[in-house]
Amino acid sequence: MTATQSVDDREGDLRRVLRKYWGYDSFLPLQSEAMQCVVAGRDSVVVLSTGGGKSLCFQAPAMVIHGLAVVISPLISLMKDQVDALRSCGIPAACVNSTLALDERRHVADEIRAGRLRLLYVAPERLLADRTLEFLQTVDVSLLAIDEAHCISSWGHDFRPEYRALSVLREKFPGVAIHAYTATATERVRTDIVEQLRLKNARVIVGSFDRPNLVYKVQRRNNSLQQIRSVLDRHPGPSGIIYCISRAEVDRTSAALNELGYLTLAYHAGMSNDERQRNQDAFIEAQVNTIVATVAFGMGIDKSNIRYVVHAGMPKSLESYQQESGRAGRDGLEAECCLFYSGGDYGTWKRMLDDLESKGRDGALNSLGAMFNFCSGVECRHRALVEYFGQSWHKSTCEACDVCLGDLDLVEDPVTIGKKILSCVLRVEQRFGSDYVSLVLSGSRDRRVLQNGHDQLSTWGILDGESRRSIRDWIEQLVSQEFLQKTGEYNVLNVTPEGRQLLRSNVKPRLLRPAEKKTKKRQAASFVESWTGVERGLFETLRAMRRQKAALLNVPPYIIFGDVALRDMARRRPSSLEGFLQVRGVGEKKCDDFGTEFIDCINSYCSGHDISQDETPPAIAPSDRPAVSGPTSSSRKAFELFEERRSVEEVARHLNRAESTVYGYLGQYIQHRRITDPAPWVDRESTSRIQNAIRRLGFERLRPISNALGGHVRYEDIRVVVKCWKNTAGGGV
Ligand code: ADP
Repeated sequence: MTATQSVDDREGDLRRVLRKYWGYDSFLPLQSEAMQCVVAGRDSVVVLSTGGGKSLCFQAPAMVIHGLAVVISPLISLMKDQVDALRSCGIPAACVNSTLALDERRHVADEIRAGRLRLLYVAPERLLADRTLEFLQTVDVSLLAIDEAHCISSWGHDFRPEYRALSVLREKFPGVAIHAYTATATERVRTDIVEQLRLKNARVIVGSFDRPNLVYKVQRRNNSLQQIRSVLDRHPGPSGIIYCISRAEVDRTSAALNELGYLTLAYHAGMSNDERQRNQDAFIEAQVNTIVATVAFGMGIDKSNIRYVVHAGMPKSLESYQQESGRAGRDGLEAECCLFYSGGDYGTWKRMLDDLESKGRDGALNSLGAMFNFCSGVECRHRALVEYFGQSWHKSTCEACDVCLGDLDLVEDPVTIGKKILSCVLRVEQRFGSDYVSLVLSGSRDRRVLQNGHDQLSTWGILDGESRRSIRDWIEQLVSQEFLQKTGEYNVLNVTPEGRQLLRSNVKPRLLRPAEKKTKKRQAASFVESWTGVERGLFETLRAMRRQKAALLNVPPYIIFGDVALRDMARRRPSSLEGFLQVRGVGEKKCDDFGTEFIDCINSYCSGHDISQDETPPAIAPSDRPAVSGPTSSSRKAFELFEERRSVEEVARHLNRAESTVYGYLGQYIQHRRITDPAPWVDRESTSRIQNAIRRLGFERLRPISNALGGHVRYEDIRVVVKCWKNTAGGGV
């Protein structure tokens, strides 16, 4: 790599290592920009949400530029995970931290001296120890990457004093660029990072805070256990976390679920270290799918395939909610975040905050209020979160929250209901809270109501057909939409200027009715897309095989293959190593290490279930994380040759590729260009025989077609004819 290389050359180099080591064909948003900074040696601050692919932003360049990349990371458990993951991709990496024995540390030092390591992970306090710094100053350091960089700023939510000392790095490594990575950093924190680390002309890259693959669902809690069970029943196989507010609740919930036949483990700070560690390991190693925990659980967990996070109670702030729910779906595949809340949760937190010293109390109360508004609100959850964190939102629907998916039942005439409630608030002279107002609206003969003479008001009982719970919910919704506000210590309701507009029918609120009849719910778009073409049974078989291999090798299953790779295997169903290498998330080393075994498993499953193989899905860049991708140069070249009507054999020779791979390209070509005529790739006679069979038997399964033709026609030919058939009007696709 030289300074004179063009941006395109650098990008080409980065793409090559991405494919070779990680098996990815494209960059996630802003990854390319972040990597370009590293390769060009320009300081940078990169803020990408969890799962945004920050690690690759320095790992891929580390394989392109010469020397040793030093990564500073605060969590020892994460470090080990990252190093294991890198090694499994064939990248020489190591870590030094307090858990390493002396001889292991010596070994790492020898490897560094010999120039055999490309990435070194180190905790800040270890790096800053004199001997480590001195030693590293003598070696060729290619870049310095600081993970969880918000820890350097006292404005951040997780300030660590030992991070402050990293300011010496600039002086100790004057010629080396420094790159800071974090998932959460306000502008103030970003500026602080630049100043503390003495970054020069740093490029600051900030991605969207949105996590489009997370499906947010918020419900009032009525029967906590039943509500949790419904989530678990929707996700019988995959891993998930259930967060409870208190330790006692963790123990209770875990025990109750186990009694009902679910397998869960508990985790909270009241347990012994040993027990906690054991339960955490069992979860990471997928021996148990569900962990029930307080918020003590989660830091230092790098598990990428958590498919659901349940909050059995409301967290104390949206910052906490974002962090905890954000542990789901780090691999970019769809995941569900369900939050069950009650007004009581608000009260519990408020009492705890009331005990706080006044410093910080107001801020904490505001955060709590925002959290409660989020729960009781009825606007798109993605929009609410993104706007809360200071970014704007431009989509009309997210297709991934209860509001946008139509899970919630909206009342038909919200203006009338809204006006009734606001009128009542005015009639009681804006002197009461929501409980009392709901009593009056529902026509209660409560002693207080009678004493105040409020049973004489025109608004007394004007919502008498509704439950008090619904009325209270609507009041909360009107508060969250700012038609009402709560004031003073007793949360007295007041009508806002926006509320006056509603009273004049100039605006319309959104009010929810608790869903009664269960209409068929729509699936989130990311869910539909990421499962498209995936043979579910095969996916489960591959998952079991991954678990076995992981146990054998004593690593967490996702180190072997992520869920993204398993789904793509179950979608493409490769029968050859060449096809296996096309799978998203399969790099060269993993293909060498596991290819044969996984292909055997795929082959035997497919022949046992009569399922076609070597499918080439249209370039899959799940919409949940729009990747910047394009056809590979080989497939582009193949397309050109198919345009010239060259045969598969010729194209294979020309591109120096196996015929099976070229059949894959041909499938893509037919699909993209909507080709209907199988000639010249299948001869006329075979074509018409296959078409006759399709007319009789349909094209869903290839085996019956092959059998009907006495096994004399090649599967590849059947596949080509079927693909062309699908493009015709009769193909029905
Ligand atoms: P972060 O550190 O930002 O939370 P990670 O670096 O852990 O994110 O990446 C999240 C997931 O995305 C990982 O499973 C990683 O392998 C995957 N990933 C990263 N870059 C790409 C890419 N270019 N294409 C596909 N998947 C990617």
